[in-house]
Amino acid sequence: MTPELVMRILVIEDEPKTGAYLKKGLEESGYSVDLANDGADGLLLAQEQDYDVIVLDVMLPTMDGWAVLKVLRATHATPVLFLTARDDVNDRVRGLELGGDDYLVKPFAFVELLARVRTLARRGPPRESELLAVGDLEMDINRRRVKRGATRIDLTPREFSLLQLLLRRQGEVLSRTQIASYVWDMNFDSDTNVVEVAIRRLRAKIDDAFPVKLIQTVRGVGYVIEAKEPD
Ligand code: CA
Repeated sequence: MTPELVMRILVIEDEPKTGAYLKKGLEESGYSVDLANDGADGLLLAQEQDYDVIVLDVMLPTMDGWAVLKVLRATHATPVLFLTARDDVNDRVRGLELGGDDYLVKPFAFVELLARVRTLARRGPPRESELLAVGDLEMDINRRRVKRGATRIDLTPREFSLLQLLLRRQGEVLSRTQIASYVWDMNFDSDTNVVEVAIRRLRAKIDDAFPVKLIQTVRGVGYVIEAKEPD
């Protein structure tokens, strides 16, 4: 019998009740859990120990979650699930841009946190740099670079988020509403025009000058990214 590998989780959370609750819940789910009560302590642990996943609260004393994530990402690629206090798109985008891997909005159900942690832990050993690609387009998440072939493409943060979403869900048709709720944190039931405009701008940068188009429109459904040779 091979010994079972116990995954290690670091929870950085200053609110004592939430911290204790998360530690207990994750331990009962089979993880080994360390708990840090403030940003500086959490960062130190994260740098010194080997964790499979870090659960990082954003509002923390001594050093907030953003600062922790920023410093940590200079040297470590440990998957980070960050916890935001409000469902604010700026928080979300900021967290993902700083190198967070996923987020949860407080208050959340424990089962949901557990599902996210499991997904992050399954990704396996942290990668040095994450590359997403389709056709000859490459997106380097950590270095925030996009190129097609040898051509470097500059994107705004929002365009970057949009392209990242399409690439992560490659082959899956995403509705305008899905895209809007992820990239803009809004429900555009009545106005998906915003998404169309953003897609058009992104296409102008990544597709217009190239014979092989990447962003495909699925009429009446939404968009999908895949390399398509010209007819
Ligand atoms: Ca807090």
